Amino acid sequence: MSALLEATDLCRHYEVRKGVFGRPDIVKALNGVSFSLEPGRTLAVVGESGCGKSTLARLVTMIEEPTDGQLLIDGRAADPADRALRQTVQIVFQNPYGSLNPRQKIGAILEEPLKVNSSTSARQRREKAKAMMERVGLRPEHYDRFPHMFSGGQRQRIAIARALMLNPKILVLDEPVSALDLSIQAQVLNLLIDLQQEFGLAYLFISHDLSVVKHIADEVMVMYLGLAVEKGDAATVFADPRHPYTQALLSATPVADPSRKQQRVRLEGELPSPLAIPSGCAFHPRCPIAVPNCAVDVPHLRDVAGRLVSCHLA
Ligand code: SF4
Ligand code: MG
Repeated sequence: MSALLEATDLCRHYEVRKGVFGRPDIVKALNGVSFSLEPGRTLAVVGESGCGKSTLARLVTMIEEPTDGQLLIDGRAADPADRALRQTVQIVFQNPYGSLNPRQKIGAILEEPLKVNSSTSARQRREKAKAMMERVGLRPEHYDRFPHMFSGGQRQRIAIARALMLNPKILVLDEPVSALDLSIQAQVLNLLIDLQQEFGLAYLFISHDLSVVKHIADEVMVMYLGLAVEKGDAATVFADPRHPYTQALLSATPVADPSRKQQRVRLEGELPSPLAIPSGCAFHPRCPIAVPNCAVDVPHLRDVAGRLVSCHLA
């Protein structure tokens, strides 16, 4: 199957100028990331805030352009001026409270993308909105209600329905359940899984929370300071993580099977500023198993036990 998303050495650097005469600093928000995503599959992008995952979301949704590397969407070069291509990728944000216009009724919220982007009649738009509401578990009478009349979980269903109105092929899910209670999280994740099967959607699922991602990911890419540090089949990575950073993230999540021994890996210190990325392996100041060479030699992704890992000692 051909990929819907194909990223090769994707970079996004920002210049930050200190004063008028100061030399600009370069923030390397994304520093050479490659991946591909096929229809019906979910790639989870995981890491702490500041790892580059939100930058990646902005590139894939064409809100920003890469400073280097290549991004193909449905076989075409990413181009914000390409309207059809923009429709191919839709996004669901973390905050269902902030992402819906409080002055618009649900029906109008869902129909808006159709008004802007295609020549449909009012009746067609209404029918499509109602069909999509039903598909995400909302009721017909919800059509005339305002966002404040809904719970967080229902609002996220509305945001998902809106994202699907233009028949996209790719959904970027940016922490889509992080603002919801645990029980509601599971319902929304199950809905996403059903919709993916029904429509053959590809999901780029962005999260800081590996326990959420476990339920939905086919593949996982763990990021640290703008780079992928471990990447591969989700079941393989979760069962036996090989990068110390993945191990640390996983050991911070609750264990489903208490009989499985899990060593707690503690991370030292804070995430460094992307303005001052450490030399060698960027993870070395926080790595519990670092050796002196780690501060000098840059590790690159290589095959380790069936997935890619960037660590000298893996
Ligand atoms: Fe730790 Fe060194 Fe591996 Fe980096 S290369 S993760 S510092 S052991
Ligand atoms: Mg973020």
